[in-house]
Amino acid sequence: MEFDWNKIFLSDLDWSFALEIIFRTILMFALILLMLRLSGKKGVRQLSIFEVAIIIALGSAAGDPMFNDEMAIIPSVIVFGAVLLFYRLLTYLAAKSKRFEDILEGKAMYVIEDGLFTLEEKATNTFAKDEFFAEMREAGISHTGQVETAILESNGKVSFFYFEDDNVIYGMPVLPKPYAKRSKDINVKGYYSCTYCAYTEQRAQPGACPRCRNDQWVPSINTKRVT
Ligand SMILES: [Zn+2]
Repeated sequence: MEFDWNKIFLSDLDWSFALEIIFRTILMFALILLMLRLSGKKGVRQLSIFEVAIIIALGSAAGDPMFNDEMAIIPSVIVFGAVLLFYRLLTYLAAKSKRFEDILEGKAMYVIEDGLFTLEEKATNTFAKDEFFAEMREAGISHTGQVETAILESNGKVSFFYFEDDNVIYGMPVLPKPYAKRSKDINVKGYYSCTYCAYTEQRAQPGACPRCRNDQWVPSINTKRVT
């Protein structure tokens, strides 16, 4: 197969339009900045699903007129205006109604309470456990016994509230090496944590978790958090 390199890289670009592209790009870029300022958002470190939808809606309206000579700027500005108006309306409604806000932005959810994973179906189905373990490690947590409460925020961030060092209990390790020791067999007496819900107790034999009926256990640890 022969590639038409000229078509891939240049197509029918004439060099005077190249200058126009530069001008269009600067103009659209300035418009995007203005639009983001007008939206009232301070930064975009964490976006809710709703905000991601807005960005997708704007993406092509903002990008296409930069290099497509058949696209005029004003229709894009109208798209910007419409999206901004809609954004403002939805955020206004969200501020008025908690129910509407939950639908729009999602709800904050308890994931850990008193060192145990919550068992409500909603909480356990919407996040992947590996991902959550990674979040915990990033926060310097080595096991669930250090965490009194964890809340999955609507923007996907997790907020952790810790036990005081003196109150750290035995918990399920989230570091890969100790977590790899999980198994359904227990022969040595000691503290074990349920790998599903992090329920922790002293055990000497295998069996089902009294809290969630899962029968896989992992040796618990009770190290304090290093901050
Ligand atoms: Zn359990």
